[in-house]
Amino acid sequence: MPDPGTPERPLAVAIVGAGPSGFYAAEALLKAPGISVRVDLFDRLPTPYGLVRGGVAPDHQKIKSVAAVYERVAQDPRLRFFGAVKLGRDVTPAELAARHDAVIWAVGCESDRHMGIPGEDLAGSHSATEFVGWYNGHPDHRGRTFDLSVKAAAVVGVGNVAMDVTRLMAEDPANLAKTDIAAYALDALRGSGIKTVWLLGRRGPAEAAYSPAEIEEIGELTSADLVVDPAEAAVDDVSKGELADPASKKKTDYVQAHAAKGEGSKERKVRLRFRVSPVELIGENGRVKAMKLERNKLVDDGKGGTKAVGTGVYETIEVGLVLRSVGYRGIPVPGVPFDEKSGHIPHQDGRVGPGSYVVGWAKRGPSGLIGTNRADSVATVQSLLADLKAGALPAVADASLDATLKLLSDKKVRALSFADWQKLDKLEKENGAKAGKIREKFTSIEDMLAALGQK
Ligand code: NAP
Repeated sequence: MPDPGTPERPLAVAIVGAGPSGFYAAEALLKAPGISVRVDLFDRLPTPYGLVRGGVAPDHQKIKSVAAVYERVAQDPRLRFFGAVKLGRDVTPAELAARHDAVIWAVGCESDRHMGIPGEDLAGSHSATEFVGWYNGHPDHRGRTFDLSVKAAAVVGVGNVAMDVTRLMAEDPANLAKTDIAAYALDALRGSGIKTVWLLGRRGPAEAAYSPAEIEEIGELTSADLVVDPAEAAVDDVSKGELADPASKKKTDYVQAHAAKGEGSKERKVRLRFRVSPVELIGENGRVKAMKLERNKLVDDGKGGTKAVGTGVYETIEVGLVLRSVGYRGIPVPGVPFDEKSGHIPHQDGRVGPGSYVVGWAKRGPSGLIGTNRADSVATVQSLLADLKAGALPAVADASLDATLKLLSDKKVRALSFADWQKLDKLEKENGAKAGKIREKFTSIEDMLAALGQK
C-alpha cells in the first residue's frame, strides 16, 4: 500500500465545521508543498461560512466579503463539501476516523456563557448569541422573539459582540435595509420602541474588550448619542498600566472625549457604563422589568491585570430587555474530549489524540478576529503534517473517495454539495435584488431544501 500523502494515496482529511477556521485549515492543507491531499469538509447546515454568515453583523459587509476567499478554497477539485451533515445525528467521529487519515474539529463555540445571577432566566433575558443568530437569519434562531416594544434594553459586557447587538438596536433601520439582515428582523427593528440601550462594562474604559473601530462606530451613529459619565470614563490608578497598549489608549481617549460631549440631542441614547456588574434581574409577571447593578472597584488581579470587585453600593435601572454578551462557549462533540471548565477541546499544539486535531474557537476559546484563525489553523495543520511525516497517523482501512459516499448512502444521509450551496447563493442574491437588498437569506433548512427541489 502506498503511503498517505502520495499521488496514488492522497492524505484524506475530514474537517468538521465550514466556518473560517475550517476553511483556513483546508486552505493550509491544499497548499502544503509536496503532499497529495484531499479534504472532506462537513457542516451541519446546508450553508458554509459559519460565523461569517451567521455571526458577522449585516452592516459589516466588508468583513463578510472574506467569504470570497473561502469560496475559492471550496472550488479546489480536491475538496468536497458535505452540507447538512450533522455530527452525532448523521455521522460519528469514529465513522469519520475510519475513513480519513485525520479529522480536524472546527466546530467553534456554539453556546454562550451565563452571568449566574438571580432572574437570568426571566422572559426578556436572552443571550446576545440568540439575538445575533436571529437578525442574521440563522436556522437555529429564526423562530425567536425579542420584545422590542420596551423603552430600555441592557447589554451586559463590552466586547465586540456587545457592540454589534447594541448598534443593531440603536441604529436607524434604514441603514440596514439594503443589507442581508433577515426580513423579519428588519421589520421588528423598524417597529422598535427602544430609546435607551445600557451598555455595561464590569471594568473600566482602559480594559474594555471592544476594538477602537467598534466603539467609534457606536459614537458615530446618526440615530443615537453615545453618553458616558465623565467620572466613569476616568481611568483608575490600578488601570493606568493598560494605557501602554496603544489600542487601550485610543479607546480610552475616545470615550473620554465623548463623555465631555454630554447627552446630545438624538432620539436614542447608548449609555455606556463602567465599573458596574448586574447582580439581579428583577421581574414582574415573569418578565424582566429592572436590573440591579453593583458598583465595582478595580484591584490588581496578581497577573499583571485588573479585576472587578463589588463595593456593596447598588442602583437599579429600568430595562425590559437584557442581552448578555459575556462570551461564547463550546459545546461538547460526543466522542471528542471536552474541557468543561474552559469550554473547549483540550489539545497539544492542535493535537487532540492520534489522527484528531482542533482549530479555531474550539481550540483556543472564543477570542480573536476572523483573520486570527488563519495562523491558528496553519499551526494545527503543521502538527498534522509533522505527524504524517513521522508515521504517527493511525492506519485507516479505507480512505478512498467512495468510502465516505458509501457511509452517507448506507446511513441514508442526503448531503448537499458546494454546487447546491452555489444555487442557494444565487437565489438569495436574486431574491435580495427584488427587495433592494444585497441578499435575502433562506432562514430555514426546509426552505433551502425546497428551493433545491428536495424534500
Ligand atoms: P469578549 O471580547 O471576550 O468580551 C466579553 C465581555 O464580557 C468583556 O467585556 C468581559 O469583561 C465581559 N464579561 C465576561 N463575563 C462577565 C460577567 N460575568 N459579567 C459582566 N461582564 C462580563 O467576547 P465577545 O464580545 O463575545 O467576542 C468574541 C470574539 O469575537 C472577540 O475576539 C471579538 O473581538 C470577536 N468579534 C469581533 C467582531 C468584529 O471585529 N467586528 C465582532 C464580534 C466579535 P472582562 O473584560 O472584564 O472579562
